Amino acid sequence: MIAFSKKTKLSPRAAVFLDRDGTIVHDRPGYYLVDEKSLKLYKHAPQALKIFQKMNYALIILTNQSGIARNYMSLEKSKKINLSLRAKLKNLGIDIAGIYFCPHAPKDKCSCRKPRVGLAKEALFNHNIILAKSFMIGDKFSDIKLGQNLKIKTIFLKTGHGRTQTLKYGKTIKANFVAKDILSAAKWIKKEKNRG
Ligand SMILES: [Mg+2]
Ligand SMILES: [Zn+2]
Repeated sequence: MIAFSKKTKLSPRAAVFLDRDGTIVHDRPGYYLVDEKSLKLYKHAPQALKIFQKMNYALIILTNQSGIARNYMSLEKSKKINLSLRAKLKNLGIDIAGIYFCPHAPKDKCSCRKPRVGLAKEALFNHNIILAKSFMIGDKFSDIKLGQNLKIKTIFLKTGHGRTQTLKYGKTIKANFVAKDILSAAKWIKKEKNRG
């Protein structure tokens, strides 16, 4: 589902697909963000997002929000949290192209819950994205799997669920790069891009 999608006729460009919780905003195992008042950006997230923006990547957030299916929050509340994040970033000079979320539970077997490609496909269509040059960044195995399903480069973060996911899945997480946080991911992408 779409929380927000900027309608512009832009020339094609690559995207940085970003997970939300544990990647841009604070998250930890066993915790669900169910109120916009609890929304807290990681310290280096704005700087990292500005680096991507400067490199002309479309910034697209793809987030699993099973808290909706689990009745921890309403669909409306979830949208409100996403719009609040968008506004917060906008105030810092960061322009998010779209926020796409899956409201389902794992048992629903929907086509949009990461690592399935539904959300990304929707975004590709809406934002004229060059997939092959895009990246996926996240703190869960499912984010990396999504990137692999899309056949793009992946960056696994140690923030959020990163450490517990490493313990759980170990060496099966085969990201192109493992970063301590989103800023170190941004620096790596900058180097990759310069390499061509
Ligand atoms: Mg996450
Ligand atoms: Zn879904």
